[in-house]
Amino acid sequence: MNDNVIIGAGPAGIASAIYLKRAGFDPIVLEKGEVGGLLLNANLVENYPGFPEGICGRALVGVFRKQLARLGIEVQAKEVSSISLKDGLFALDVDDDEIISRSLIVATGTKPKCLGIQGESTLLGKKLFYEIKDIPALSWEGTIAIIGAGDAAFDYALNLADDVSQVDIIMRNDRPKCLSLLWERVKESDNIQTHPKTVPIAFEEGDGIITKCTTEDKEISFSSEYTLIACGREPNLDIFPKDVVKTLIIEEDGGTNIPGLFIAGDVRRGRRRQAGIAVGDGILCAMSAMDYLKGEEP
Ligand SMILES: Cc1cc2nc3c(=O)[nH]c(=O)nc-3n(C[C@H](O)[C@H](O)[C@H](O)COP(=O)(O)OP(=O)(O)OC[C@H]3O[C@@H](n4cnc5c(N)ncnc54)[C@H](O)[C@@H]3O)c2cc1C
Repeated sequence: MNDNVIIGAGPAGIASAIYLKRAGFDPIVLEKGEVGGLLLNANLVENYPGFPEGICGRALVGVFRKQLARLGIEVQAKEVSSISLKDGLFALDVDDDEIISRSLIVATGTKPKCLGIQGESTLLGKKLFYEIKDIPALSWEGTIAIIGAGDAAFDYALNLADDVSQVDIIMRNDRPKCLSLLWERVKESDNIQTHPKTVPIAFEEGDGIITKCTTEDKEISFSSEYTLIACGREPNLDIFPKDVVKTLIIEEDGGTNIPGLFIAGDVRRGRRRQAGIAVGDGILCAMSAMDYLKGEEP
């Protein structure tokens, strides 16, 4: 029996764990991938206080890791496949094991939106990726195609421009939907080209990958070593049964209509998804979970 389990070791889960540990609890932190979550993909984080020159996402995660280590918080490399409620306790299916906890902080972030076009599922993980951190080693002679018009797509392009000869940003819209600062930096780059009003219709295997698209009046293909899809993300609540997700109410303090369950970070934040918000959410949920465990009113 555990007092608290945290699912996900991105910024939200890490912040929850740090708060609870310092408050005298011993949370169990479970992470199915790499500690740091989505932040590992960020090129240059300039809006997280404390780093006047900005810091790359991976380096910021390095700082988080040091803090976890100093406090003796161990992240267990385990994936939670499902959750059920048993007599007011949470029962987590974890690999071949079951973990029982009095309270639960879910900080599982988001999952990518698929395009649902031909070749996507076949080439996924080989030549096609949703996150930059998953791309294998790059060759300077290579090119990359990026699909998307938002902050993530433009951040990926700036990140990759130093590693490959050409980056093509394929976007459905006639204008980018990213911060104007990112758009200005992309315009200044010698080897990033944007392709507005261009809609992907299929992927094919070539030397690398061929991204077939339509424009207003013709078909056009991009041949690249890899293609990245950055076309939005949606909350990752897959560990819950569908009827629980449908009726889930998340309160301002991260608590829910299920006593002892707290939801933190991108998973609950709609379009307002940032590391700073996730960290604040993580701390808020930890404080709420602490009150719950002590039997105190919020
Ligand atoms: C390209 C890019 C650039 C960005 N730049 C910035 C920036 O400059 N500034 C900024 O503030 N934010 C930035 N962000 C956003 C920031 O990365 C996210 O807001 C932040 O990482 C959200 O934290 P989180 O902990 O809520 O979720 P995540 O970081 O997504 O972490 C969730 C974690 O939960 C784990 N998980 C999910 N399901 C399970 C399961 N069943 N079992 C176990 N573990 C599970 C995942 O593996 C993941 O590690 C950027 C994002 C991207 C993609």
